[in-house]
Amino acid sequence: MTAITRFAPSPTGYLHLGHAASALFSFKQSGPHGRFLLRIEDIDQTRCRPEYLGAIYQDLAWLGFEWEEPVRVQSEHFTDFQNVLDRLTDMELLYPCFCTRKDIQAEVARIGNAPHGPDGALYPGTCRHICTQERAQRIDAGQNYALRLDMAAAIARVDRELVWFDRAAGRQIATPEIFGDVVLARKDTPTSYHLSVTHDDHLQGVTLVTRGEDLFFASHLHRLLQEVLGYDVPEYHHHGLLTGPDGKRFAKRDKSRTIRSMREDGIPPEKVRKLAQLG
Ligand code: GLU
Repeated sequence: MTAITRFAPSPTGYLHLGHAASALFSFKQSGPHGRFLLRIEDIDQTRCRPEYLGAIYQDLAWLGFEWEEPVRVQSEHFTDFQNVLDRLTDMELLYPCFCTRKDIQAEVARIGNAPHGPDGALYPGTCRHICTQERAQRIDAGQNYALRLDMAAAIARVDRELVWFDRAAGRQIATPEIFGDVVLARKDTPTSYHLSVTHDDHLQGVTLVTRGEDLFFASHLHRLLQEVLGYDVPEYHHHGLLTGPDGKRFAKRDKSRTIRSMREDGIPPEKVRKLAQLG
């Protein structure tokens, strides 16, 4: 089978064995005549560092990967994401939310038994009904705000059952409502993972999205965004996560298992690739 796949790391730390597993998986799924893309997901400029970006290229090259140039580096495309936000605003699917994290926690506690989604308690909707005039006043007054998706309004635009296909888990009926009114942009990060990943997978013509099963539920939301924005719908393959001898998945904080440290310890790349086999 032939596919256009991508590996999309964030330069917030050194790559570890779990990343190598994900990259290998993506590469294999592209097949001998497919295309394997590398994309740098560095929208969170407070957490990303240039030395980690350089290390991604070095580590992947050392592991034997080749990828197409130019690499799409998301931080170079904030205007693209702004254009997508503008489209959603024109459709009246976004609203500014002035709540701080504390405000939300307090409101969630007040409601008691608030519904929870994959990322925790759902936004209780405090700012959804603020009138246009007050919104404008608060923005003009310099209040900080995020842009949230009006989930009910977005779902109401869709007039058919939304489905997506995962090569491991099969046909899925999308249930984006599990995310509630999710944040799609912030002042300091004028986009979000969900917005930029959905946009870029479409823009780059990715036909098979491969990623860890920890992001399985995100695809329900991405499917809705694709529908609303008129984007192509890729297939998905959420893979199991590589775990260490202690049964725990690798994390950026496990410094000892970075690709870099394995290289420095003299472990050859083919051995690292073997260790990074999934399942
Ligand atoms: N940048 C994301 C990560 O490092 C990748 C998510 C995806 O592949 O959709 O977890």
